[in-house]
Amino acid sequence: QAAAAVSGHTGPGQTADGYAVKLFANVGSAKNVPGADEVHAEGIGLFRTELLFLDRVQEPTLAEQVTAYREVFTAMAGRRVVIRTLDAGADKPLPFLNQEGEPNPALGVRGLRVARRRPQVLTTQLAAIAEARSATGADVWVMAPMVSTVAEATAFAAAVRDAGLPKAGVMIEVPAAALRAADLLKVVDFLSIGTNDLSQYTFAADRMCGDLADLLDPWQPALLQLIGVCGAAGRAVGKPVGVCGEAAADPALAPVLVGLGVTSLSMSPRALPAVRASLAGHTEGECRRLAELAVAAPDPAQARKLVT
Ligand code: PEP
Ligand code: MG
Repeated sequence: QAAAAVSGHTGPGQTADGYAVKLFANVGSAKNVPGADEVHAEGIGLFRTELLFLDRVQEPTLAEQVTAYREVFTAMAGRRVVIRTLDAGADKPLPFLNQEGEPNPALGVRGLRVARRRPQVLTTQLAAIAEARSATGADVWVMAPMVSTVAEATAFAAAVRDAGLPKAGVMIEVPAAALRAADLLKVVDFLSIGTNDLSQYTFAADRMCGDLADLLDPWQPALLQLIGVCGAAGRAVGKPVGVCGEAAADPALAPVLVGLGVTSLSMSPRALPAVRASLAGHTEGECRRLAELAVAAPDPAQARKLVT
C-alpha cells in the first residue's frame, strides 16, 4: 500500500482505471531539468529554444546550438524530449532577425513563418538538433510553432526528415490548424496544442492584455471545442496529441483535456503533482463525460461548475 501511495505521487500519469496520459515538463534550458526530475516528469513536452537566441545581434552558431541542446538531451537520456524550433516574433522579438516595423507582430512573420525569409535559420537549427541528439539516447521529437496550413506542415516535416530526425510535429496555435488537424496528421507524427496562442488567435485577444483575461480563460467552451477537434483527429489515427500551453497546468481541466482526446500534458514542473493527482481521481470514461459537459457549457464559469 505504501508503494502504491508513493507511485501515485511519482509514477507515470494515468487515470483511475489505468489509461496512460504522459506528464511532461516545459523547459527553456538544461537549468530547468532538475526541477522536472524533482516532480518525476516523464520527459520534456516543450523545450523552448528561444533562450539561446534572445538579445543576440548575430545568430548563435551551429556549435553553440549543439552544446545547448545536447545538455538537455544528455540529461534526459532514455526519455522523450519534444524540442520546438525557434519561435521568434510577436511576444518574442529577436534582434538578429531585424523584424521591427511590423504593424501587427502577432499576425506577422513569427514562428515557423520566419523560415519563409530566412530558411537557413531553420536548417541550421535542425542540423544542430540532429548533431546534438546523436549518442545521447534521448527520444528527440521536433515541432514547429505557429503553423497554419498543411503546406507549412509538409515543408517542415520534409526539413526534419532531411536533417535525419525521426519525429516531426506541429503546434496547434492557430484556429485554422486546429480545424484541419486530421489533414495535418497525414503529414506529421504528432500535434501539440499551444493553448496560450490558440486562445489569443481564437478570441482575437492579445495574450499579454490583462483586461481580456476572461476571453483567454482556458475553460472557454470554444477553445475546448477546438481542442476536441484535434483530439478526435488524433484518436482516429492513433497519433499523439498533447497540450503544452498553460491550460495543461490546471488540475481541474486535466480530465477534460484527456476526455477530449489529449494524450499528454506538458507544463511548468511545479504544476505537475497536482495534475497527476487529479487524473488519478477520474476514470477515462468520466473524463469523456466531463469533456462533453464542458464543451456544451455556455461559458467558462458554468463549464468549471459542471466539471468540479
Ligand atoms: C503556447 O502558445 O501555448 C505555447 C506553449 O507556446 P508559447 O507560450 O511559448 O508561445
Ligand atoms: Mg505559442
